[in-house]
Amino acid sequence: MENNIETGDWSQSPVMQNAARSRATRLRRLQARAYDAARQILATDSISSSKHCYCCHKLLTDSLSVSRGFGVVCWERVLNCIADIKADRYAA
Ligand SMILES: [Zn+2]
Repeated sequence: MENNIETGDWSQSPVMQNAARSRATRLRRLQARAYDAARQILATDSISSSKHCYCCHKLLTDSLSVSRGFGVVCWERVLNCIADIKADRYAA
């Protein structure tokens, strides 16, 4: 499914346009989860280990990701959010 989307042979089809839209929605949701996590990490000064990513719920297989409770890609997002929060970019 995911691979078919990337080949783009049917990029003008409504299915493809839906896929692009849902991908954007998913990214927004992941970003919101990452920001949520970043605030919790800053508030509690701790992270909890998990076998599934807090952001995207993907099964985590490497021990470093499990100890963070985030996949590598999502952890990058969380770190960016923490940096943003610390820079006061999200100040209400
Ligand atoms: Zn994730």
